[in-house]
Amino acid sequence: MVQQETKTQVTINLAALANNAKLVRMHAPHSKVLAVIKADAYGHGLLAIAEALNHVDGFAVARLEEGVQLRKAGVRKTVLVLTGFTSPMDVDVFSQYELDAVVHSDYQVDYLNQSQLTQPITVWLKINTGMNRLGVSLNAVKRVHDSLELSAKVRLPIKLMTHLACADDMDSPATNKQVELFDQAVEGLVGEQSITNSAGLIGWKHAQRHWVRPGIMLYGGNPFIGGNDTAGIGLQAVMTLKSTVIALRIVEKGQSVGYGGTWTAKKTSLIATIGVGYGDGYPRHAAEGTPVLINQQKAGLVGRVSMDSINVDVSQLNTVKISDQVTLWGDGLAIEEIAENSETISYDLMCGVTQRVPRLYRKDADGK
Ligand SMILES: *Cc1c(COP(=O)(O)O)cnc(C)c1O
Repeated sequence: MVQQETKTQVTINLAALANNAKLVRMHAPHSKVLAVIKADAYGHGLLAIAEALNHVDGFAVARLEEGVQLRKAGVRKTVLVLTGFTSPMDVDVFSQYELDAVVHSDYQVDYLNQSQLTQPITVWLKINTGMNRLGVSLNAVKRVHDSLELSAKVRLPIKLMTHLACADDMDSPATNKQVELFDQAVEGLVGEQSITNSAGLIGWKHAQRHWVRPGIMLYGGNPFIGGNDTAGIGLQAVMTLKSTVIALRIVEKGQSVGYGGTWTAKKTSLIATIGVGYGDGYPRHAAEGTPVLINQQKAGLVGRVSMDSINVDVSQLNTVKISDQVTLWGDGLAIEEIAENSETISYDLMCGVTQRVPRLYRKDADGK
């Protein structure tokens, strides 16, 4: 089937991705870059993004299957699986595919020791410094590190990592506290260190260590709370979600639009129906007035988001025709603005674009 320019689609601007990757290097010039491409590269396509990010030093994914997929596609760089082994059988798969494993809990050391590995694997010991999600407790670091070191199944030295809970908030005291606790916990240990995600590497320079772990900034999302000035950091949107106008109607004063009739025209209005809905990953909870971009002009959402369509009030726009292209987020319309109107974050919107939406990869600088 020919993919028509005019249908609901996502364009992935690889030139923007390269720009954002360069910004990571600029912000953390002394660190190696572990590009985080979990969740299908935040919805951008795991293999396409891995291939395009050929200048990074390695990749991080959340699940073992994602790591195996990268290896099967021929990726030779470091691949770190952020959850590590979740069953005893996993250990052999890590070894077979030469994947690095995060060790965040005692049971994982047991799985390692119970395995029949002949080839040691690289482990990153994750330390809980306050996120309280994954990571060994501060008082267990020395013990777990010792037992990993004694295991013949581990390649030495063991790498050391933690994850920041509040790096997106420059006013929070939590980050400095976490870095301090990390430094105390790893004192005397020689392995390479990694602390920062996107917000961490931009906002908290002293936490840049041997490896930085950017995710959202690679895709052009602003990692800071309430920040939608991506241009200020120099980030460029990689993903643009587009659709088209599929119907136009005049709605008289007093008539309502969409399921539940939640929006009623206060005056005679021109309403455009756009062929995108929550079945594509457009957020169902987007508030009235959430902007879309039609012919470089903003129009606001009216009524409820349907599975396959949304309605916008285009009364104030100059000209709108059937088949006009509409940008839902991305180039020209910050995804953070849509996220804010939907009480979520850019990450959620990016990951949420469903499989039925074709991804079109564009290499040239203007992403066209
Ligand atoms: C997802 C994740 C990252 C990347 O975070 P961003 O905010 O997207 O930069 C880094 N480290 C870990 C452990 C993660 O889970």
